[in-house]
Amino acid sequence: MSSSRHWIKSQHVWREALGRFEPAAVAVEGDRIAAVERPDAVPAGATLRDFGDRWVMPGLFNTHVHLDFSASKTPLRDFEAEDPSERLLRAAKNANTLLLSGVTTARDCGSQWQTLALARRPDLSPVPLPRLLMSGPPITVPYGHLHFMHGIVRNDRDIYAHIARIRKDGGRSVKVMISGGQMTPGSKPEDTVFGQDDLNLITGESRRLGLPSVAHVLSTESVRRGAIARFDSLEHCAYFDRHEDGRLYRNYNADVAQTARDNGSAMMANLSTAMPGFDAIYAKAESDRTPLEKHQVRQFETMVENFGKMLKLGIPMVCGNDAGVNDTPFDSTWMEVDWMIRGGQSPVEALRSATIGSAKALLIDESVGRIEPGYSADIIALAGDPLQAVSALKSPLYVMRQGEVVLGQAGVAA
Ligand SMILES: [Zn+2]
Repeated sequence: MSSSRHWIKSQHVWREALGRFEPAAVAVEGDRIAAVERPDAVPAGATLRDFGDRWVMPGLFNTHVHLDFSASKTPLRDFEAEDPSERLLRAAKNANTLLLSGVTTARDCGSQWQTLALARRPDLSPVPLPRLLMSGPPITVPYGHLHFMHGIVRNDRDIYAHIARIRKDGGRSVKVMISGGQMTPGSKPEDTVFGQDDLNLITGESRRLGLPSVAHVLSTESVRRGAIARFDSLEHCAYFDRHEDGRLYRNYNADVAQTARDNGSAMMANLSTAMPGFDAIYAKAESDRTPLEKHQVRQFETMVENFGKMLKLGIPMVCGNDAGVNDTPFDSTWMEVDWMIRGGQSPVEALRSATIGSAKALLIDESVGRIEPGYSADIIALAGDPLQAVSALKSPLYVMRQGEVVLGQAGVAA
């Protein structure tokens, strides 16, 4: 086996246990990390990639993407205009973009049944893919959020059949739309559409099969029910109410947040979603903003404040940005890390959220998300220190996925 062993070394290798970068040499064998040693432990004549004083860390996670979506200003229109095979091609391209941006593990939170082919037969993909945990079509109600992906359930039997099919078709995650969503015409974010018994059944069955469960929760009641059902992660946690002016307002609910904390759910806050739109509003003088824009800015700032409150409470935060939806491209995961820091995490906490913390919510932290022996060889190298400036994550010099170099083969001189 020693002939297939090769080494990576650097003055700055992320050591999860220490919470800092340290000089180290990493031995890779096949798709696994075989050893982590002092830099001088590399045997003479070994195959070595020396990154010098560049920064080496585990590949990033994005726990919430929609591979079928175009990330344009009109993702739903694009989805509807494309047929299943076109969506599958788009999904492969999007997944490849994630990988080349340093994301070596991604969870898809809602796509058509056909896109599960990427998880089932990654060997057939014309482009390299990250590790994909696919949820397939999200479980939803008739006319519910993303119902057009064909994940509608009407009773317990449908729920069991849906989860069984996800698993049989190569899926590795169970996603449920507990509230309505903004993107689906006719679906209302402030509505809670699943009862507690249904949700308990879904998380129970997911747990029995070893699949991570994840819930879309925009209304306060949906966050509460998702927390009681002990979903592995809760997405958005918007605490939305609709006021008489017809607009949605975020009304943080401390009791509900406490329940989520006590029941062990992680949270995906997607602070950076649709950022170009907010940038455009912030670029205007306050007096030039329309009433709707002022409302959007207030709600955005409330979202970031709520993130800080839930963080203080001790809710584990995971990295996801809803890539694929409106104005949220697949190479922008680093922006979520940036916003988690702006929302109150230390840079070390944010790096953990984007690696081992996300792995935990995906139930794969025993084998993915650390540079340690036995872990999957998912490694990226950066030109700068991400603890000093998160933008170092923006364009990795090198990406290794499961032992295979997919970016930067010949790029960086030692
Ligand atoms: Zn989503």
